[in-house]
Amino acid sequence: MRRALEESLIVAIVGFGLGALVFRLTGQVWMALPVCAIGATLPLCWLRRRDDSNLREAGRRAAAERDQHEATQQFIQRLLDVVPMPIYVKDADSRIIIVNRAQADQWGQPREAVIGTHSFAQAPDAARTRVSLAEDKQVLDGERIYKEEHSADGPFGQEQYRVISKARCEDSDGSYVIVCARFDITKWRQAEREIHQALEREVLLRQRNQEFIQRVIDVIPDPFYIKDRNGRLVMVNEVFAAERGRTPESMLGMQSTAVALSPELSLATASEDAAVLRGEIIDKEQHYIVPRTGEERFRLVSKRPCVDMDGQPVIVVAHINITRWKIAERKLARMAHEDELTGLPNRRRFFGEAERMISAATRHSKPLSLIIFDLDYFKLINDEHGHVIGDQVLREVANRLLEQLRNEDLPCRWGGEEFLILMPMTDLSMAMPLAERLREAFASAPIVVSNLSLAVTVSGGVAQKRDDESLNECLARADKALYAAKNGGRNQFLSA
Ligand code: GH3
Ligand code: MG
Ligand code: MG
Repeated sequence: MRRALEESLIVAIVGFGLGALVFRLTGQVWMALPVCAIGATLPLCWLRRRDDSNLREAGRRAAAERDQHEATQQFIQRLLDVVPMPIYVKDADSRIIIVNRAQADQWGQPREAVIGTHSFAQAPDAARTRVSLAEDKQVLDGERIYKEEHSADGPFGQEQYRVISKARCEDSDGSYVIVCARFDITKWRQAEREIHQALEREVLLRQRNQEFIQRVIDVIPDPFYIKDRNGRLVMVNEVFAAERGRTPESMLGMQSTAVALSPELSLATASEDAAVLRGEIIDKEQHYIVPRTGEERFRLVSKRPCVDMDGQPVIVVAHINITRWKIAERKLARMAHEDELTGLPNRRRFFGEAERMISAATRHSKPLSLIIFDLDYFKLINDEHGHVIGDQVLREVANRLLEQLRNEDLPCRWGGEEFLILMPMTDLSMAMPLAERLREAFASAPIVVSNLSLAVTVSGGVAQKRDDESLNECLARADKALYAAKNGGRNQFLSA
């Protein structure tokens, strides 16, 4: 502008100068005046022209700037419209100045309808409006809002989860605006909830399974437990816990060896557990005394490899109580060799042992004698006092017989109220005094059973086994002598 003025001044001076020159040359004022006038107006016209062109230039520039601004605005709008999440921008008075398509769709209004309105016009209630205004103030003060909202205000009343972000931004004029963006995280939250619910269901199912297994093992009448690969108890049934004087829960996590009834019973635990974890099966019998009760017990310890619900190897252990069977077995074994009533060797055992004693005697040319005796008038005891008393008498007879025996002698309940004694290293001359001593043992003192004092005498036959006869032949001879003793008045032993 200044430059234009300078230029105009120079042109004006030149105009007046030309006028002055014409006056000087012609001396005619009427000739000089037009020149002066032209000289003076020309710069004015020129200036005017310059101004006009400057104005046009400025107008063009302003229009270009406007276009540019418009294009930028449109570009920003397009940019925001392709963003799938709702975004809007509001000025410091909380009036909406930009809104993207996602946000307009969500509000269900055309863009033009919301531009210029207060953003809180969209708020569902006064409380939300208050919150919104308070937040706007915070944001304008430089804070940033980033929060999650849960509501049931979807288009069909369905629930929605949103993350709301509000931040301050400077616009092209340098004034603050508030940029609001919302991320719909409903799907993530719902997926998260579904996963959570699935996990909860799994935990519940697991718990139910666990409880069911516990109920199942609790009805097992023998001690039963499961331990992990490190020997820690993971499940314990009630019988096992009760046997250890504990509750099942209090035992969980403990080492199984820590609750063993005695250290000896758990000696092999570590090596056995390792074998089971390698896939072996352990079945072993144990005989022990329960420390608390002093009770004799037999158990079958059964260990099996198994896999738990998580696919981890575990050891399943059952202590099957076999005490009753073992005691019955023991009794059965005894019964096969012993007389049940008196406990004396029975015929089977007598013959087995007699066989060995006879061959030893033959080998060493040693004598061997046999006594057979029978109770006198035993039928009368039964008749008078009954069989129960009769049985008790028979037991007492066996006891008295045992008292008279030497270590090496072999007794036997031959049957009914008849007894045998096989005496190794004994000839007839030694056997007769032993028989007499036996007779005396009965005759000298009554047998007392159930407050009854019963006089019992015995009669018998004695035979020394000959080298050329069998045991049965020798027995037949002794039996004959017994018969003779009975006939001869009883309470006596006769030699065959
Ligand atoms: P004797 O002096 O002649 O031998 O007279 P006795 O009465 O003893 O007659 P005998 O030996 O013939 O009778 C045996 C009796 O013993 C018959 C039976 O009732 C009884 N007896 C046999 N075995 C048992 C038993 O296991 N328990 C009981 N209580 N009695 C038995
Ligand atoms: Mg008899
Ligand atoms: Mg008799």
